[in-house]
Amino acid sequence: MFFTWSDVGELSRTIRRTPFEGVSEEVRGWSYTEPPVAPTYGVKLGVSDIVPGYCETGRNIYVKYVLHARQRPNSILERGYIVHSIHENAVASAKRIILTLTKISGDTFLENFRSELDYVKNRILSRTHVYSVEEASWLIEALWRKAGFIYSGEIEKALSRSRHLSRETLVSLVSPELAEFPVDGTLVGLTPTLRIDSLLPTGLIVEIKSRPFKEEYMLTLAGYALAFESQYETPVDFGVLLQVQIDERKRDIKFYKKIVPISDDLRSSFLERRDMLMASIAENRDPGMPEICNPACPYLHVCQPRKVADKP
Ligand code: SF4
Repeated sequence: MFFTWSDVGELSRTIRRTPFEGVSEEVRGWSYTEPPVAPTYGVKLGVSDIVPGYCETGRNIYVKYVLHARQRPNSILERGYIVHSIHENAVASAKRIILTLTKISGDTFLENFRSELDYVKNRILSRTHVYSVEEASWLIEALWRKAGFIYSGEIEKALSRSRHLSRETLVSLVSPELAEFPVDGTLVGLTPTLRIDSLLPTGLIVEIKSRPFKEEYMLTLAGYALAFESQYETPVDFGVLLQVQIDERKRDIKFYKKIVPISDDLRSSFLERRDMLMASIAENRDPGMPEICNPACPYLHVCQPRKVADKP
């Protein structure tokens, strides 16, 4: 989750061995003036609206944009917020500390990084209301500790190669990722304020998930790739789904990475879903409810489903 150059190398090796037939020009993001990439309606949607991972029929869109209902927080979504927030804060803090510390070493970095934990923790806890404070505190501390060890180790590794690195170079050697990278998705019918969880140097986009893996999460990567390509005219062929598996009872956190080729089929499926959901808003059409709703959904109080699954 806190990417290093070793992770980038490992991902690139796996990608080189992954079969991939390439991407057709008409489903690249820069083909936004022609179908199928050209948006069919003027509505702008977030990637997480189109692929929420909790509503099979897409009724979440109708509830949000037609009924204008408010979301109600739940512990599953708050846990995801904590994971994303720690990721963004840890990357930002590590880079700032490396740039500003008078004397840099793995030890001095770790001391400073740890001293920021309470501030970060209090800020995150002030924005969570449902997830247990005890479990949230454990999760924040565990992820922060992990980030600290990773970055201090990377600093020592870089300094052992040369003591004369500029701080900017050291930052790029220790933390090569851009966390919460902003992308304007308007050209492809998405919102102007999209955020890619992590952008890695080889042009790899990463989506972090704290809920169990679902096939549909791969569509998220297609959405971000289309937006990125439309804005920067730079191809994005692969993405990574990073699943953060958290077991609060056993106090255990595991990370699983899945390489996803952002193929023509994946792009087409995302675009079809985008168009179908845009049409449902434009026509005020209720797409109906699934057989069973997901406990991660923040609109359960609006739809009041008869059945809610035990697990997300
Ligand atoms: S409550 Fe069910 S139907 Fe309504 S938005 Fe959530 S998952 Fe979809």
